[in-house]
Amino acid sequence: MKKHNYSAGPCILPQEVFEKSAQAVLNFNNSNLSLLEISHRSKDFVAVMDEARSLVLELLGLEGKGYQALFLQGGASLEFVMIPYNLMKVDGKAAYLDTGTWANNAMKEAKLFGDTVVVASSKEQNYNHIPTEFSIPEDASYFHCTSNNTIFGTQIKSFPKTNLPVVCDMSSDIFSRSLDFSQFDVIYAGAQKNMGAAGATLVVVKESILGKSGRAIPSILDYEKHIKAESMYNTPAVFAVYTCLLTLQWLKNQGGISAIEKINEAKAALLYAEIDRNPLFKGTAAKADRSTMNATFLLQDETHTPIFDRMWKEAGISGLPGHRSVGGYRASMYNALPLESVQVLVNVMKELEKVV
Ligand SMILES: *Cc1c(COP(=O)(O)O)cnc(C)c1O
Repeated sequence: MKKHNYSAGPCILPQEVFEKSAQAVLNFNNSNLSLLEISHRSKDFVAVMDEARSLVLELLGLEGKGYQALFLQGGASLEFVMIPYNLMKVDGKAAYLDTGTWANNAMKEAKLFGDTVVVASSKEQNYNHIPTEFSIPEDASYFHCTSNNTIFGTQIKSFPKTNLPVVCDMSSDIFSRSLDFSQFDVIYAGAQKNMGAAGATLVVVKESILGKSGRAIPSILDYEKHIKAESMYNTPAVFAVYTCLLTLQWLKNQGGISAIEKINEAKAALLYAEIDRNPLFKGTAAKADRSTMNATFLLQDETHTPIFDRMWKEAGISGLPGHRSVGGYRASMYNALPLESVQVLVNVMKELEKVV
């Protein structure tokens, strides 16, 4: 039987995405050829890329608003480099909100390009909350934030207002909740958390902010070159892009972001209610900032670890251990994880109370 998969990434995808993409590897569109052995410039694959790009904008509500969607490579980690390369003015500076490991990694790369201002950080409290009450320097080239901190289980609920271009790493909560996505000028996300197979990176960029950095940008790192080439500047990650398309189609059939958001909220509410009710557990993130995607929690008494671990494994759960920088457990509840899987975990937590 299929496991209840709480892996943080790569992670669960809709079952139909696994089935359809497996079929396409064997025989794509009844062509008697594999998706993996045809030209990326063939009519059939260009149609995949075009539909995936337009579905992204449709689902985010960004059609006709001057945005372009690109499927690039190098993961979110390469965007840490491409963002300052494309946006930070020569001798300029950039503003970063430090909410965790990934935010920090993004900032490290920007430092290679110019002055990097940390507007606020929750590092001293091991990133257990999202800082508020900070100001963003008006002379920065852009403001960068991380919408969901995959490792620490926190999520930005309302984004700061600024006149600067806003860049957001949404790797672990893209397409999971309704937001006014037009408040962002660049959104990027590695595919492997809520969208598809590892290997593709989604970048949604507002065209009007490009071409202003004054830098000579290597072609492969230049958003304008990728836009001009319709996301085919070099050979795209064909399999990963195809899995993204299938996930986007699945999401649209579910009713889009607003429909999945309701389910995501129900899943998170169910698990956090048990974390708060059950005296054996405690959550690690500040309640107001809790992520609906990644719930981080600890056992109050670590000596219960072996028995709890045995119980959840026996219940068919996989991928629950927390990241080493937080310890304990992390339940990643991405779009494709069904509510029933959360119920199974909650039942195990209740069961633990009876046996210890
Ligand atoms: C996983 C993750 C990354 C890193 O993604 P790669 O595609 O492996 O480079 C960056 N940011 C966030 C928020 C993540 O969760």
